[in-house]
Amino acid sequence: MQPQVKLVTFESSSAAAQDERTRLATLRAYEILDTLPDPRFDVFVRVAAQFYDVPISLITLVDEHRVWFKSALGLDAAEAPREIAFCAQAIEDPATVLVIEDLASDSRYAQNPLVTGEPDVRFYAGAPIVTPGGQALGTLCILDRKARTLDIAGRQRLADLAIGVGCVLDLHRCAVLARRAASHDPLTGLANRSLFDPALHEAAHTAWEGEGCAVLCIDLDGFKSINDRLGHAAGDSVLNAVSHTLLASVRETDLVARLGGDEFGILLRAPLDPGGPALVAERLITALSAPLMVADQSLSISASIGYAGAPSAGSDGPTLLRAADAALYRAKAAGRCVAVGADQPAGPTPVQMSGLAEDLRTALRTHGLTLNWQACVNLDIGQSGGHEALLRWNRPGHGPVAPDIFIAAGEAAGLAWAIDSWVLENACAQAAAWPVPETVSINITPSSFCARDLTPLVRDVLARTGLAPDRLILEITERMAMDRPDLARTRIDELHRLGVKVALDDFGSGFSALGSLEEFDFDRVKLDRSFIRNIGHNIGHSTKSEAIARAVIELGREIGFIICAEGVETVEQLAFLQRYLCPMAQGYLFGRPGPEPVFDPAIACMAPALV
Ligand code: C2E
Ligand code: MG
Ligand code: MG
Repeated sequence: MQPQVKLVTFESSSAAAQDERTRLATLRAYEILDTLPDPRFDVFVRVAAQFYDVPISLITLVDEHRVWFKSALGLDAAEAPREIAFCAQAIEDPATVLVIEDLASDSRYAQNPLVTGEPDVRFYAGAPIVTPGGQALGTLCILDRKARTLDIAGRQRLADLAIGVGCVLDLHRCAVLARRAASHDPLTGLANRSLFDPALHEAAHTAWEGEGCAVLCIDLDGFKSINDRLGHAAGDSVLNAVSHTLLASVRETDLVARLGGDEFGILLRAPLDPGGPALVAERLITALSAPLMVADQSLSISASIGYAGAPSAGSDGPTLLRAADAALYRAKAAGRCVAVGADQPAGPTPVQMSGLAEDLRTALRTHGLTLNWQACVNLDIGQSGGHEALLRWNRPGHGPVAPDIFIAAGEAAGLAWAIDSWVLENACAQAAAWPVPETVSINITPSSFCARDLTPLVRDVLARTGLAPDRLILEITERMAMDRPDLARTRIDELHRLGVKVALDDFGSGFSALGSLEEFDFDRVKLDRSFIRNIGHNIGHSTKSEAIARAVIELGREIGFIICAEGVETVEQLAFLQRYLCPMAQGYLFGRPGPEPVFDPAIACMAPALV
């Protein structure tokens, strides 16, 4: 293509504005603006000034409001306002060298302050510096204080030199990328340990000198199951979504890092937010528990957080991180979705945890376990429609342990079958003695549901306790159904033949797929409380949760299973469920789990909702 003089216009359109935004983003990605002088660039302005015999030669980069000089010969300034800089016009056509032979006699430039005053230029020629993607980021330009011409060969040479400048710019970009790869996580783009650790150490050191800082360790609950169930691509999407949430929840001056698989770290730099790390941790827990859309599915994820502040919990990086890690361990042990500070009173420690399964074994032998009952309310008639058995353990010397925790510990120690048979036996025996023939729901761990002995055990227990089979509902999570679909189907059929019902528990809590509702013959589906929690709040996620809850309720009606909404805590949530004819609900609004079943739970709260 013949280089030619380009006449410049200032027309702008939204497409041009979009192109300019993309160009600026590319320029920023080069991380070259405001960097120190670099001899690899200086050589080009020297050669250009000598070759063309001009007093001024520049390598410029056109930023949003300024033209910044990467290298300048014959000028002291570091930049010029974009609106008066000729280079801003030169980059408009990346394929053309812009030449203005006599600025003073051209009406478009005669009044330009660079022409009327210092540096009094009369001649300008600028060759765009173009990226491999075709975007002009700046120019290699020559300026003279007298008018002059530039023939085609001269223009071509300037364009050739600008190609050389572009190559050096790309080398700079490669070095930036290499540095970034060494210090950032390739999946999420967050800082990695090699960036985080020194930054934390430095901040902790400053804290020692008077300013506070804090570190948060964040671990996702149930992430492994998402990876196992939905595959690594879905797992990656979750990690990316989580990293966006974390970045959006802290200040730009804080540092967010991915420290391991599903573990993140945040350095809160001084000055700390009012409320300190506890408030930030709480904010993060709320933000992270909002449902995520991944691969067209709504996933609920939650996080546990441990945090530690300097200098109270440590005055160097490693000590501070260890303190936050220990707090995270306690948060995990206390149940999901919890934040624990290093300075909070100690809960179970790692050593205590290792004794958990042993103590549980003893509890099973010595009748140390008990059952609590929570009503499942029939919303059509406003009366209890059954009760769910929830296992409780008051661990001697430690106090009550959350069932999520000790059941997981029991499963890991091979105690699942012992726990489930204990619950089955005792819950059925108690229910058989109730004054009303309500249903009894029992949670069964996936491994017990898989066991071939489950159906014979259920048959024996029913025979022994005299409970009618149609009063028994076994609750399983979707993890089970997806893990061993054939086995699950067989077991559900066997139980149905006995007359026992099967419910899908916590639907929507993690690995749910609508397909499983069709694939398995569930009698009841319990809609996870993460959806119910957002209903009636005037926040962004409420409408999504409401739409999902409504769709699942309708699906239940269409396909023919009973929906039970879990975790109903407010009259607004109840009113919503009634409006969409949800048949059953369970939650603190009707009553917390207690040692005795309540056959007429406080359904008075339903009256205002019905109006
Ligand atoms: P789940 O089967 O989904 O049980 C419902 C959980 O939600 C119970 O927690 C209950 O106390 C809680 N809950 C009920 N209403 C509300 C509400 O309005 N708001 C909130 N925030 N929570 C509410 P819990 O008793 O801590 O049990 C947790 C999980 O432990 C159960 O979830 C179940 O998966 C498991 N689990 C409990 N008992 C047993 C058992 O006997 N055997 C087995 N295998 N698992 C059990
Ligand atoms: Mg349950
Ligand atoms: Mg549940």
